[in-house]
Amino acid sequence: MAEAYGLWPGVVAIAADANLFCVPCAERLYGDEAIQAVVDAEPGWGKYQDHEGNPFGVVLRWSADAHTQYCAAPGCGERLCEDYCGCYQHPELWQQHGIVWVEGGP
Ligand SMILES: [Zn+2]
Ligand SMILES: [Zn+2]
Repeated sequence: MAEAYGLWPGVVAIAADANLFCVPCAERLYGDEAIQAVVDAEPGWGKYQDHEGNPFGVVLRWSADAHTQYCAAPGCGERLCEDYCGCYQHPELWQQHGIVWVEGGP
């Protein structure tokens, strides 16, 4: 899965231009300086914007926003949620019912 950076418990993805990107891809697309400021929530990070002129968002590790998501950058496709998370085995459960499938669960 994607590596986590910065803010506890770690930033696994950057929300920009209506997509989610893993941190290395976001750095490639938007520049190291901007993304590192966002990941570390440095003072003034809100002044950085994506290509549509919106401020960046962050997705923290283990947050609901990461379920069933993959990095949107061409050629990457890194899983943004934990590899062991059941959301990838049955993404329709999460997308339609907001339930994360658990192996051996009820
Ligand atoms: Zn990526
Ligand atoms: Zn998940």
